Amino acid sequence: MTFNLSSLVRPNVLALEPYSSARSEFNGQAQVWLDANESPHNAPYNRYPDPLQKRVKEALAAIKGVPCDCIFLGNGSDEAIDLMYRVFCRPGVDNVVSISPSYGMYEVCANINDVEFRKVELDDDFGLQTEAMLAAADESTKVMWLCSPNNPTGNAFGVEQIKWLLTRFSGILVVDEAYGDFSSQPSMRHELANYPNLVVLNTFSKAWGSAGVRLGIAFASPQIVGLMNKVKYPYNVNALTQRYALERMGNIGEIEAQIADIMSERAYLIGQLEGLEQVIDTMPTDANFVLTRVTDADGIYAHLCRHGIVVRNRSRVAKCLGCLRITVGTREENDAVVAGIRSFKQET
Ligand SMILES: *Cc1c(COP(=O)(O)O)cnc(C)c1O
Repeated sequence: MTFNLSSLVRPNVLALEPYSSARSEFNGQAQVWLDANESPHNAPYNRYPDPLQKRVKEALAAIKGVPCDCIFLGNGSDEAIDLMYRVFCRPGVDNVVSISPSYGMYEVCANINDVEFRKVELDDDFGLQTEAMLAAADESTKVMWLCSPNNPTGNAFGVEQIKWLLTRFSGILVVDEAYGDFSSQPSMRHELANYPNLVVLNTFSKAWGSAGVRLGIAFASPQIVGLMNKVKYPYNVNALTQRYALERMGNIGEIEAQIADIMSERAYLIGQLEGLEQVIDTMPTDANFVLTRVTDADGIYAHLCRHGIVVRNRSRVAKCLGCLRITVGTREENDAVVAGIRSFKQET
């Protein structure tokens, strides 16, 4: 494989002179800030936030073992997903390849950006068809989407298979590790130095318990991070979110304890589900959810809704016929969903 980053980037983005904000032109220490037309009142919220989130990245770099210049932060990983299209894919010309079923935002963002979205189905055991992925790509394929652990199937793909793709695909391979902290597989972010075409996504939304603050992460080469920074909104991560993220990362022990609790509840939930006559099968999972095949997905889904319990009905998604996706909650929530399913009687 020959990898040439500039040849993958949209020419207009390559040539782009990015907006230079007041806060990005001066970043020393000062007493008097009269450069950005801010109000002198209402500190600290009167000030624009750091456009490149330096302190948040320093804390994250230490926790994740990735250099600061290999970190991009966005308004949720959804921003990073959209930026892959805006940086690399020419509307109406380029295409991307994704596994199917997978996270819906890859396809929605493709449609918004008028980029052809090519799907390669997982096999019947939700395994990755690496040869078919590569065969689906052509010279206009800029990005490949690989969610691992995958949403909604829950399984993680092997490092060797991902490396096989990385060495043969000459575009950008995005490995979305939104659920990586729940997985037994090692993170691909430690491979960044070996693969210039690798982008690894992560998020504060799942294991770190902070979906409400909207903070997504992309780990990539400094060159790719630079392109994403050039295209993003100047102040894409607000001051409240940056402040909160620093506070949250100051308590890694608590985050780890919460992940451990979710992992043990996951085992409990699977055990309970497997004892139900309405449950045909639960799929092995590396995530904080369980994909479960039930006797009547639509009926059970509606029944649960009537009892104020919401799960995700995935029964019409490729390869997930008859399946519900259930997020692991607290012991009380897990008991409630199990009791809810148990009380469902098939209509005759
Ligand atoms: C939940 C999820 C995300 C998280 O998106 P945010 O915008 O960071 O909340 C990303 N990818 C996948 C596959 C997900 O399931």
